[in-house]
Amino acid sequence: MKFSVLTLFPEQVKHFLSESIIGRAEEKGILSIDAVDIRDFSGNKYGKVDDTLFGGGTGMLMQCEPVYQAFSSLYDAGNEPKPHCIFMSPKGSVLTQEKAKELSKYDHLVILCGHYEGIDQRVLDEIVDEDLSIGDYVLTGGEVAACVVIDCISRMIEGVLPNSEAYEEESHMQGYLEAPQYTKPNVWHDKRVPDVMLSGNHAKIKEWKRIHGLYDTWKRRPDMLSKLNLSPDTWKQMLLIDQEENEK
Ligand code: SAH
Repeated sequence: MKFSVLTLFPEQVKHFLSESIIGRAEEKGILSIDAVDIRDFSGNKYGKVDDTLFGGGTGMLMQCEPVYQAFSSLYDAGNEPKPHCIFMSPKGSVLTQEKAKELSKYDHLVILCGHYEGIDQRVLDEIVDEDLSIGDYVLTGGEVAACVVIDCISRMIEGVLPNSEAYEEESHMQGYLEAPQYTKPNVWHDKRVPDVMLSGNHAKIKEWKRIHGLYDTWKRRPDMLSKLNLSPDTWKQMLLIDQEENEK
């Protein structure tokens, strides 16, 4: 899968994505991540790509033409289809695991990052397919947001993680949160790993994880739980855990 990030700060994106799991996936050729400097398409010797806002207001706005030229450099418009273009924006729909799964099906994604006050609407109307936000707050630029999107999509692409189980059981994949996890030693600060985890009984472990994942969802994100149709027996087990927790 190929990601092309259109940005005024390509180093920020390259630096973040060249490390760890995503960096290794790129080395293995599973992913290709290209950061394109919009300034290279400024058309002037100063590399100026922004200007003051019509209608007043503080700050600078990125201009149409450099963004348009940077985007156009990514494909041969006469012979290739236009790649799917996402604009990182606090006005976009908020990224979810479901959305990331949907985006992971594309062969080529272009991610456009704004900076300063953002980008002139006219070029957005021409090239962007969808706006995506990473949350209801405002960042100084889309670069960090683009890295979040690429990271989240990439870990679902075959070969990036050791196996699909590595992500399929994680929080949000099945509509609820992951259960608590434990590693060695068995006892730490007098706290024991739950017996079932050491039992070797895979069916029981699976059920423990399911119930405790649902229990954590109930306590932390009741909004998510209301979308699941839980059986009376599941509720009974969750109430038992709740009783145990309250007795601690
Ligand atoms: N004037 C804009 C904010 C500009 S912030 C507004 O009020 O909507 C500068 C850039 O940072 C944006 O163009 C966008 O690319 C990025 N950005 C800011 N907050 C973001 C968020 N929550 N999610 C994704 N990108 C964001």
